[in-house]
Amino acid sequence: MRSLQHDVEAARRVHGGRHLCHGMVLGVRLARLGCRLLGIDDPGSYRDLVVYTETDRCAADAVSAVAGVTLGRRRLKWVDYGKFAATFVDLATERAVRVWARPDVPHGRPDQDAEEVWRGFTDERLFYWQWVHVEVPDCDRPGRPIEKVWCEDCGEEVRDSRHVGVEGRRLCRACAHGPYYEVLAAQSDEAGVA
Ligand SMILES: [Zn+2]
Ligand SMILES: [Zn+2]
Repeated sequence: MRSLQHDVEAARRVHGGRHLCHGMVLGVRLARLGCRLLGIDDPGSYRDLVVYTETDRCAADAVSAVAGVTLGRRRLKWVDYGKFAATFVDLATERAVRVWARPDVPHGRPDQDAEEVWRGFTDERLFYWQWVHVEVPDCDRPGRPIEKVWCEDCGEEVRDSRHVGVEGRRLCRACAHGPYYEVLAAQSDEAGVA
């Protein structure tokens, strides 16, 4: 297993910023623990690891860097719970462990050195963990897209079964539920979209 220092540096490169924040250091610790519990020594070269992060803050970058999982390779999943937690899934063995920050862990203060503060805390003092089962559907797994559909409303391609059926039509989620964005008419004209 790589050294803690190595992983902290890797996480710092991904996360950016001059300061090493508490969330980053704790995220590195959480990710190392998750990998260790699954018996994965070299997560960077292990292709069957998938991680579900329950936060999109600092720790998510730490988990990505340490576990070697990225959104683009479909091995990092974001579940929007707002929790300091992640579940590590080994697709080869179907074993999975969820690791989360103990509620009684004190908050780090900005004036404290993040690496220094947590050095004195064991993994057992920082985290709880539990073995779980995660059903990873085929359409969420790494590898080639399993299905392509063209939205019957906007015409855009939708991959990996993310389309929805509405009254017998296959639609993208934006057309079915309304998009997260609001189209600005004037600028769409400039882009040449009717
Ligand atoms: Zn941060
Ligand atoms: Zn559409």
